[in-house]
Amino acid sequence: MKTKSQISHILTEIARMYPDIRTELDYETAFQFLIAVILSAQTTDKQVNKTTPSLFARVREAEDMAKLSLAEVEKMVSTVNFYKNKAKFIWKSGEKLARDFGGIIPNDLQTIQSLPWVGIKTAKVVLAVLYDAPYVGVDTHVHRVMNCIGIVRTKTPEETDKIIEKKLNYEQKLTIHHPLVLFGRYHCIARKPKCESCPIREMCDYDLKGLISERKSI
Ligand code: SF4
Repeated sequence: MKTKSQISHILTEIARMYPDIRTELDYETAFQFLIAVILSAQTTDKQVNKTTPSLFARVREAEDMAKLSLAEVEKMVSTVNFYKNKAKFIWKSGEKLARDFGGIIPNDLQTIQSLPWVGIKTAKVVLAVLYDAPYVGVDTHVHRVMNCIGIVRTKTPEETDKIIEKKLNYEQKLTIHHPLVLFGRYHCIARKPKCESCPIREMCDYDLKGLISERKSI
């Protein structure tokens, strides 16, 4: 398991690879960002960005959702995975936000999870981006990378989330969310990690297991 100083070195190197990147999802308003994050579950950001322009042309704020029927929303998001459920949840989120929160996304981890479909990962991503809150949204990439490197030893993203919450300090949680997601998406790729050019290779448990050398010899 990694020491605090090793974790600090690893996260600094990963952050250095992706400076100044906030999110790859397109949006203009806070509510549009919430919609984009909900739609991005098990769908690429690229696909979400192709899907949202027609919806966002009609929906800027939560109260705008009431001007559309659920069937219209379903049609507009039909190119993303699980679109029927997602349409229902973004439609209901608009209704609840407009009715209970004056259209403002709650800046509070517990309260935001009262919105439909908003679990701990979505809540943390939304709060980190919209309010610069010190949270790491643990998606499948972050879960895999943290286990691969050896910062955690967990079986589920939920377990990883709990351990990261304890192990990372405030500054680390404030800055590392997006670099970690991008590192998992584009560098430490599940099927073919770019170990040969990896700045943290010497500290990575994947390398310690000899897997890099094994792959080289294939
Ligand atoms: S050394 Fe390879 S497996 Fe380890 S973090 Fe880097 S890319 Fe991922």
